Amino acid sequence: MNDAKIRLYVEHPLGQGQSVVLSREQAHYLFGVMRLSVGAAVLLFNGSDGEWRAEVVEAGKRSGVLTCVTKTRDVHLPPDLWLMFAPIKKARTDFIVEKAAEMGARRIVPVQTEFTNAGRVQRDRLQAHAVEAAEQCGGTFVPEVAEMQRLDRALATLGERRLLFCDEAMVGAGAGDTPALRDNPGPWAILIGPEGGFSERERARLHGLDQAHAVSLGPRILRADTAAVAALTLWQMALGDWT
Ligand code: SAH
Repeated sequence: MNDAKIRLYVEHPLGQGQSVVLSREQAHYLFGVMRLSVGAAVLLFNGSDGEWRAEVVEAGKRSGVLTCVTKTRDVHLPPDLWLMFAPIKKARTDFIVEKAAEMGARRIVPVQTEFTNAGRVQRDRLQAHAVEAAEQCGGTFVPEVAEMQRLDRALATLGERRLLFCDEAMVGAGAGDTPALRDNPGPWAILIGPEGGFSERERARLHGLDQAHAVSLGPRILRADTAAVAALTLWQMALGDWT
């Protein structure tokens, strides 16, 4: 039975007969905004226990309890792909996070590069966008949004992870060298620069990294938000879970 229209991410274990106590905001959303009442069904997921059809057993203005009834889907983890990007204007940064969650990134890492001119990034707000995107797109996993890190530090966290370095200086070179990607399964990170692009120093550093695989995204310079979606598509087609 799939009478449940609303999907909700909860930070709570899910399992047969499990009661889930809602937060104030979730109760307000379900009972105040969406007008659900006792007996209504909702789909719950928490990023690890799959998706569950749950029923409302208590509905208050600021509180509520659901009970898990049946498992509707197993958890599907996205491939081990991080999206590292230099934050841009607020709405475009929100877009990047939303799209990364929809496209199947495992982790989202805002990075501060030399030409990044976005102010402080509100991690919690971006995380909330990732949650909303997962709820909306039928995902059973929410990528973690990391705190903003300086590029050097972010690169130091890569370990053996390979890096798909989207280098605007390669504009016009043959795009999407996907066979080279296919030869290297395993963890990857995509790196997208800011509106101002990468500095020469950063570019030299990135090209010098053994694990970096520099790519062109075609014959036109894309805005960073477009570039993020294009790179995620390219990688997903070669190594991801689209097949
Ligand atoms: N101001 C820069 C462009 C920055 S575009 C210039 O005019 O050169 C923002 C980011 O998107 C870039 O840093 C890069 O990571 C990515 N990007 C955009 N177009 C690209 C392309 N054709 N090839 C590779 N990366 C691209």
